[in-house]
Amino acid sequence: MSKISTPQKTQEYLHRYMEGTQKRNPGQPEFCQAVYEVASSIFPYIADKPIYHENQILERMAEPERVLSFRVPWTDDDGRIRTNRGWRVQFNSAIGPYKGGIRFHPSVNESILKFLGFEQTFKNSLTGLPMGGGKGGANFNPKGKSHNEVMRFCQSFMTELYRHIGEDTDVPAGDIGVGGREIGFMFGQYKRITNRFVGVLTGKGMEFGGSKMRTEATGYGAIFFLRNMLAQHKDSIEGKKVLISGAGNVATHAAEKCLQLGAIPVTMSDSGGFINCPDGFTQEQIDWIKELKGARRGRISEAADEFNNITFHEGRPWGVDGDCAVPSATQNEISAKEAATLIKNGVMAVAEAANMPCEQGAVDAFIEADVLFGPAKAVNAGGVGVSGLEMSQNSARIAWGEDQLRKLLEDMMRDIHDSCVQYGGDGKQVNYLQGSNIAGFVKVADAMLSYGHV
Ligand code: GLU
Repeated sequence: MSKISTPQKTQEYLHRYMEGTQKRNPGQPEFCQAVYEVASSIFPYIADKPIYHENQILERMAEPERVLSFRVPWTDDDGRIRTNRGWRVQFNSAIGPYKGGIRFHPSVNESILKFLGFEQTFKNSLTGLPMGGGKGGANFNPKGKSHNEVMRFCQSFMTELYRHIGEDTDVPAGDIGVGGREIGFMFGQYKRITNRFVGVLTGKGMEFGGSKMRTEATGYGAIFFLRNMLAQHKDSIEGKKVLISGAGNVATHAAEKCLQLGAIPVTMSDSGGFINCPDGFTQEQIDWIKELKGARRGRISEAADEFNNITFHEGRPWGVDGDCAVPSATQNEISAKEAATLIKNGVMAVAEAANMPCEQGAVDAFIEADVLFGPAKAVNAGGVGVSGLEMSQNSARIAWGEDQLRKLLEDMMRDIHDSCVQYGGDGKQVNYLQGSNIAGFVKVADAMLSYGHV
């Protein structure tokens, strides 16, 4: 490649790179989507930096260091033997041990875990902490399973996984379908098999090495980031109507932080539909939803039966009038068509609290329409950021206080925001997509250059 590539040549290289990626990863659309999203920012950035091309950095980055796939047999309450498939994708360890969550959901497959592991690498780099990228999970559906079935599944999953992880090797955590209860079961099994009490998982209970603020971190962090984006563009989060999807840990804490900062959270959802509260959910309602979707494992529609000012609707919340959207459920939950509706309704900012919730067409539409677009790897990095702080506390065998951790989270989100401005600002409106991709890339790429051709 010539030293300075023209924009047209850069597009050709990107196109060829994506053709190769698709050929090498057949049947993995989510993974290819995530690679494209990053590569489309990085190719223009490295057009005049031949060292990255000569060292095939982007080619190496899009290949996981290791993908482990294994059988997870377990016995249901009727005594029947059931079998699921488990995975751990150890994507990139250039800047620290592999780090990333475990997802239990029937949709889990290698494509989804590779997309998540790839994204995690850049996200973790953005936190400023020494963590590489990884992701794992199983195509297990926790819905409708008894407490004991979930426990037996987690124990079986860890009975294979334990040999591949370690506090300095790979540190899993939770994700969709894996919360405090599942982490407890897995940590208990790890400790039992290895006879070691170490910080091998994050998101643990407070009694056995968990960190304060970890539960709140992803949702709170996302709203801090939204507030920073608005402030950067001379606006404020106060009084803004915020559309939130999802009703799990991320969504409920995002709603809570909106409320604390004077914004108005008006929707939440699950796979059955969404609820709308035009006046904004109260703290009491948010606490009720936390309990409903936590210990009770109920449906979001039940909130409309419980509270007079809440209505339930089928589908997703993107047709409701709002100033900001914070998708907090799962990947590809805002299509290009839904993005067009949001834009027509005057949405001014979108902050991705879930991983890759916007389809590529939706991302393009928001950027084209000058909607402030906060990409997942920056917006939701507070979760893994506090996981990194949990690792530090475990290594030092100490526990920091809540105020200290809240401040560390807020500062981390501000630093991530400022890195995005550094690499994505053009004086007028910041391109956060470009900013986060480049800021995340530089650190990992430069570490890989230092190691030579590995
Ligand atoms: N699953 C979360 C994420 O997507 C958290 C990962 C972690 O704490 O390691 O970033």
